[in-house]
Amino acid sequence: IRLTRADLEALPNYVPGRSPADLARELGLTEAIKLASNEVPYGPLPGVVEAVTEAARQSHRYPDMGVLALRAALAERYGVAADRIATGCGSVGLAEALVRATCLPGDEVVFSWRSFEAYPIIAATSGATAVRVPNTAGHGHDLPAMAAAITDDTRLVLVCNPNNPTGTALRRAELGRFLDAVPTRVLVVIDEAYREFVTDEDVPDGLAFADRSNVVVLRTFSKAWGLAGLRMGFLVAQPEVASAIRKVITPFSSSLPAQAAALAALGQEDEVRRRCALVVSERERLLERVRKLVPDAPETQANFVWLPLADEAVPFAKACEAKGVIVRPFAGDGVRVTVGTPEENDAFVAVAETAL
Ligand code: PMP
Repeated sequence: IRLTRADLEALPNYVPGRSPADLARELGLTEAIKLASNEVPYGPLPGVVEAVTEAARQSHRYPDMGVLALRAALAERYGVAADRIATGCGSVGLAEALVRATCLPGDEVVFSWRSFEAYPIIAATSGATAVRVPNTAGHGHDLPAMAAAITDDTRLVLVCNPNNPTGTALRRAELGRFLDAVPTRVLVVIDEAYREFVTDEDVPDGLAFADRSNVVVLRTFSKAWGLAGLRMGFLVAQPEVASAIRKVITPFSSSLPAQAAALAALGQEDEVRRRCALVVSERERLLERVRKLVPDAPETQANFVWLPLADEAVPFAKACEAKGVIVRPFAGDGVRVTVGTPEENDAFVAVAETAL
């Protein structure tokens, strides 16, 4: 007897980074280094632990389902009306809700590939068809090909900018041209999980496009804001779209501690900027050293670098892991290395030099 959908068998699992504590134990080291999940390495922002502790005193109560205080703070910070904002259990929870809100079985979701590994999974769980458009030779989105892939059945297009796992970023003019080319009956999600690490001024802030009726901007507190473990993401869209998402999202999936932590984090923007500047300067240093080993590593606007190692990706990641450094391989394609502290990055480069 089959109790779950047959098509789920073909679905890959979302692969989380390995626990550094487990690896350290296995290797008999005092600690292992994890550069696998695009987290920022500086710990929670000041005030976050206190806010979560305070929220825990009310943990026998449900959180505010309307997420009113946080949505008001986000509205103020980003200069949009609160009815245009929805929050969710990470931005991946919102991405899933976007598919649910737009696609019936057989409808199509178009995205670049390789991109964020959750995209094909969230498309498939709704019974939608994932349409993968191959990246350009430079590892970025092929926007003309993506526009050409849109059919009468397309409901959603996912644009990841900067792109996970390659770090490449679309420029203002090309993204504008693409949005002009997409029919307004198709929702375009600009996933900006790594927006805070962008330094190239020609890489547009997706919010500049958010007044278009069919554009959604997706952001997360997991990366620059340091709340990956608490799970909080948000989107900015037209009020009708944001309202539909608030309907389909799992009720209470913006938890009490996550709402409190995000509010506290928003009060620490100066510190976030300082941390992002550290990440960016380490990113440039890491990329320069990586390119001595892998000359075709692309320019990156995110908090990670991409090593297009093709069939060497998995053996390389295994060799790093054997030396206590966890990186993220994508079989047959490449390895993504998150920017860590200067010491962590030095340790990675030392291991990479012997592994390659
Ligand atoms: N979008 C992209 C492009 C990502 O890389 C990630 C995290 N890896 C997410 C969304 C999801 O992040 P979260 O659910 O933690 O907000």
